Amino acid sequence: MVKYKEVADNIYQIEPKRDIKLNANTFIIADKDNKKLTLIDCGSPVDPGVETIFEVIRSIGFDPENISKIINTHSHVDHAASVPQLAYETKCKAYIHKNDFKMLAGYFIYFSNYHPMKYIRFIKDGDVIKCGEYNLKVVHSPGHTIGHICLFDEDKKILFNGDMLPFIRVIEQESSLNDLISSVNKILKMDFDIALRGHGGPAKSDIEKEKYRKFLDVIQEREDNILKFLEKNDMRISEIRDKLFNYKHSVVNKLFFKPADYIMVQKHLERLEDQGKAELIRKDEKNVARLIKID
Ligand SMILES: [Zn+2]
Repeated sequence: MVKYKEVADNIYQIEPKRDIKLNANTFIIADKDNKKLTLIDCGSPVDPGVETIFEVIRSIGFDPENISKIINTHSHVDHAASVPQLAYETKCKAYIHKNDFKMLAGYFIYFSNYHPMKYIRFIKDGDVIKCGEYNLKVVHSPGHTIGHICLFDEDKKILFNGDMLPFIRVIEQESSLNDLISSVNKILKMDFDIALRGHGGPAKSDIEKEKYRKFLDVIQEREDNILKFLEKNDMRISEIRDKLFNYKHSVVNKLFFKPADYIMVQKHLERLEDQGKAELIRKDEKNVARLIKID
């Protein structure tokens, strides 16, 4: 049984079948007047999979042929890897911010023989995309990825916020923590009632905003802790990571969170370097963080 529900008028959320941390939601916006469908993210071929998306579309009284576009909040595999198959089978267009183009184009090369530019279209901050009764404004919110976007209907006060804040720590090598902090502050100023998130169920604005505020506190707390560690001795990035994050031994932690947190610690150190508080040096062929002491 596919699990899906109508989370707002004519917006349906398909929940992933497996671990919600590793598999993302797919949203379907139905336009009852002209029978067009928009997908906000579409998951990977593993979860929910194109056949499941089609099954839900049929059960809400539409035809998969009605899919006219997929808007991608970002290009991560759990959100966007089904794009090539969907684009080919329905001839729909896939929208993405240009900074996240490379990874999305990669799925076309990996999963199909089709030229990505036959299907991919770029969107930018401030664009407004009409999807049935909704007017979705593109809000560029880099940090988690450099091309991450949120989609905001100002009148209906609905926000699709993708992976803005999924696990409080996953970002890419090209991104910066300052970008993520600016994006979080941008969202905190937005007047929405409900957030439709990339992972998990819908959240009311006050609950969602509380998480964003906590995230800013966590950033500060971590950096205070890193400086305390470095007061005692110089440390490798992996040592700082293992002191900051408490790991239970699981495959998910080993394969996903540990490498992601390594990048996160690097990003904290870059911020501390910018502030003149710490620096990264080479010692015994390893990258080591050192406290900068001001005499
Ligand atoms: Zn992501």
